[in-house]
Amino acid sequence: MLNNQGRPTAPGETITAKPATFTGNKALQVEEALLFEIGRADVTGVDLDEPEAFTPRLGGLERKGAIGLVGLSEPEAMRHYVRLSQKNYGIDTGLFPLGSCTMKHNPRLNEKMARLPGFGDIHPLQPQSTVQGALDLIAELARYLMVLTGTRAVAMSPKAGAHGELAGMMAIKAAIEAKGEAATRKVVLVPESAHGTNPATAALIGFEVKPVPARDDGTVHVADVKALLGPDVAAIMLTNPNTCGIFEPQVVEIARAMHEAGAYFYCDGANFNAIVGKAKPGDLGIDAMHINLHKTFSTPHGGGGPGAGPVVLSERLAPFAPVPFIREAGGRLELVEHCAGAGDAKPFGRVTAFHGQMGMYVRALAYMLSHGSDGMKQASEDAVLSANYIRAGLDDLMSVPFPDHPAMHEALFDDTWLKDTGVTTLDFAKAMIDEGYHPMTMYFPLVVHGAMLIEPTESESRASLDLFIMALRDLAMRAKRGETERFASAPFHAPRRRLDETRAARNPILKWMPPQPVQQAAE
Ligand SMILES: *Cc1c(COP(=O)(O)O)cnc(C)c1O
Repeated sequence: MLNNQGRPTAPGETITAKPATFTGNKALQVEEALLFEIGRADVTGVDLDEPEAFTPRLGGLERKGAIGLVGLSEPEAMRHYVRLSQKNYGIDTGLFPLGSCTMKHNPRLNEKMARLPGFGDIHPLQPQSTVQGALDLIAELARYLMVLTGTRAVAMSPKAGAHGELAGMMAIKAAIEAKGEAATRKVVLVPESAHGTNPATAALIGFEVKPVPARDDGTVHVADVKALLGPDVAAIMLTNPNTCGIFEPQVVEIARAMHEAGAYFYCDGANFNAIVGKAKPGDLGIDAMHINLHKTFSTPHGGGGPGAGPVVLSERLAPFAPVPFIREAGGRLELVEHCAGAGDAKPFGRVTAFHGQMGMYVRALAYMLSHGSDGMKQASEDAVLSANYIRAGLDDLMSVPFPDHPAMHEALFDDTWLKDTGVTTLDFAKAMIDEGYHPMTMYFPLVVHGAMLIEPTESESRASLDLFIMALRDLAMRAKRGETERFASAPFHAPRRRLDETRAARNPILKWMPPQPVQQAAE
């Protein structure tokens, strides 16, 4: 046994620091090597017969050398993937406070429903007569979304929030073209606090983005919008509740101003979780809004897993909704797949190969049905209550940039309280990892210095929120007491500590290269 000086421990001597281990493992947390590092090219987990002799038909282009893929025995393969799966931190392992992201609990009932063979085992190319129930489910979910948002149409097929934004803005563009104003209406207004996907979406389809300046209270003021309005403006993209976690108090006036100027109101609905059952965006005057089913109506997300971003549309935009959409004809449901067969509608085109994310639709509808309208409303109320509880539990130690507005579903802090401590938002977040918490969203929204955006959601118990608050209070007091080292070197307990994130992003090493044999020293 080695103590921290690397010399053998004397009998009776206690080890104070953590000794390095021979394997690199930390207790039962096992280091995971790459498949290429643990596998062997001459091993396989299955016993296949030698293929019969055949004549290749690749005209001599067939591979001659070994393919170089490694094999593993079944237990090795299983351990590799199970251990990798255990390295995930997610909502199923602990509180996941990312703001602007709604990492909410996905009830297992939804998973069970999504796996029913009639939903899980169908194929998008099956004849429509064999999937009437699935089409019915999509139509029913669409109806619920329209009721909850107070809108007249919904395009179900977009596969993420950003994709829904794209579909909604393309509908707006089509409506502008139909009015013959495409040459003049070129500008989209985007508040400075917006999620990056908003300006990206507008720019991608050829609009010029003009920022709406941020006010000191974290909201968008109608006067600032009006100052930018003119015949060149196509739309505004406004998030409500906004990315500072505040319900925009002038949203109705902003909608009216846009419409009076002949422009459209795109609402980023990623934060719908805060207002379901409380306010209908259609009543607020929105023309289009995407709903992240994976943020508001359970369904897991993160790690690039499938999302779904249906976009609801006002009556003015409804005719331009993309194909496919579902229509009733002769007592049956049919998918309208082509613009030519769309009747009076004028779809702008199509945004996905097939019909959208069936598994997400099933989960979302299961969530809605199992909660009921009262349950969905309560989920929003609880989400808002949890966020305000966290804010109230920390605001004597940590600074709140917009104290005059109550928080909606997320509590926002800035780094004013860390001034002169030598501790940064990043250091604080790293110390949270030591306490067993995934960090909150950091440095977003950009309009707030050193932002820390915490969204607990409705799914956390009071006990879980209390422990989180106490852990953060403890850290905050340590920061204020000047325990800089505790933060500058955090995380201490994570398998990897401070990574060079910039280098990893700028210079990712995506290809494994076999280690070079060690050179024999010349002398
Ligand atoms: C998450 C989010 C988006 C993008 O949604 P994706 O499903 O990740 O594409 C857009 N706007 C806001 C405010 C968001 O929080």
